[in-house]
Amino acid sequence: MFRLSLRLKLTMLYTGVLCLALALFALAIIFTAGRILYRDVDAGISSTAASVVRSVAVRQSPFSLQEITLPNINVFATPDTYLQVVDSRGLTISRSDNLGRQYLPLSEDTLQAAGQNKAFYETVRAGTQSIRVYNVPLSVDGRLIGILQVGRTLATVDLLLDKIRLIVFTGGAATVFIAGLLGWFLARAALHPVERISRTALSIREGGDLSKRIDYSGPQDELGRMVNTLNNMFGRLEVMYNRLQESYDLQRRFVSDASHELRTPLTTIRGNTEFLLQLPNLETETAREAMEDIAGEARRLTRLLDHMLALARADAGFEMEKHLVPVDELWPEIARQARFWAGGRVLDLSCQLPAGKQVATNADYLSQLVFILLDNALKYSLPDTGVELAMEENPPGWLALTVADRGPGIAPGDESLIFNRFYRGEEARPREGSGLGLAIARWIAEQHQGNIQAANRPGGGSIFTVRLPLAKS
Ligand code: ADP
Repeated sequence: MFRLSLRLKLTMLYTGVLCLALALFALAIIFTAGRILYRDVDAGISSTAASVVRSVAVRQSPFSLQEITLPNINVFATPDTYLQVVDSRGLTISRSDNLGRQYLPLSEDTLQAAGQNKAFYETVRAGTQSIRVYNVPLSVDGRLIGILQVGRTLATVDLLLDKIRLIVFTGGAATVFIAGLLGWFLARAALHPVERISRTALSIREGGDLSKRIDYSGPQDELGRMVNTLNNMFGRLEVMYNRLQESYDLQRRFVSDASHELRTPLTTIRGNTEFLLQLPNLETETAREAMEDIAGEARRLTRLLDHMLALARADAGFEMEKHLVPVDELWPEIARQARFWAGGRVLDLSCQLPAGKQVATNADYLSQLVFILLDNALKYSLPDTGVELAMEENPPGWLALTVADRGPGIAPGDESLIFNRFYRGEEARPREGSGLGLAIARWIAEQHQGNIQAANRPGGGSIFTVRLPLAKS
């Protein structure tokens, strides 16, 4: 179905109704005019016939045979009125001169009908024209002796009716056209405030500026009330949104401040425990174990806080600063750090990049991203399995950085969920973690106008691919 605009629908409805009304009106005019004109013709020919009949003289012959004397019928004829008298068998006895060599048509049916001694009208065709004929039986003592036919051409009436039809239809069509055009503009005027309302609503949606209101100064009719209701609604939305925004800001600030505040004592605890652990006289095994526990937990808390801080910054709309770095300079640094983070684990490094490409990046955040992926790969796979880190151009124009392991892989359906904050897979629960690492990794990738994806590898294990757009040097 076509999606018609309200304006077009209104105009079409309005024009349709007008069309129907005008068509009915035109039909009524044409029908009434036709009836009046035909009745006029009938009245004319019947009065002529009456005059003729009055002038017919019936004489008693000496042999008791009656004799009919017809008047000179030419006296009654007018240019468009023809007269003809036929006998009971249909043979013409007399006819007006204006018929020339023509005869008024006479059918068997007419003769039969006249036999019933009743006058009647009929419309017959003579050549190309229609003629209205009034047939009057002429009888003496109930015996039909002839028929008087008075005919009048309908050419004038038909011409007049044609003209009326033409005027009514062209006038009607012109009226519908003008009314449609007017309706089109009227509908625009009537719908103008509605359009303004939807434009304002759209600009609020797109610009997010809830302080905007629909500007309407018209009367307080249906539209005025609708504008009021909408403006009130926008007002309430604005208040609610501002309240939400305030509490969201408060919460964000709290997370950020709390992370900051907690970091300092934690660093102190970590520093002190690590210092104590290195002391040669910390002999008691239990004291050492307790210290190691404290140091471990402090490390975990530090990482959690770092992650919370990074996400709080992301929420606050923090935009990282990026610089164009040639990829051949980027790889050695990433590889160096990765080797360090891998500790004793087998790390398979590969880089296949055409020279001369650059990437807009923030080196610190990029190495944090690689660290998160590598840390997960090492954490979720067995110590005797290797981890692969690779960099290549795939697809063309994109730098693909992959971290693959031979761990448990990603549970089906979890591929995108694992990037949500605090989401941890079933198999991850027993292991240390907060569920924030991949959320940060995704934010870093997106800050680079790139993306990150997780998949399972054939033969087991998972593979994480980060794609960043390349720039030509
Ligand atoms: P965390 O590792 O602290 O739980 P992440 O956000 O880094 O949080 O990871 C979210 C989840 O994704 C993990 O809990 C785990 O279920 C899954 N995951 C991440 N990396 C891997 C991996 N290399 N192999 C299997 N599962 C992984």
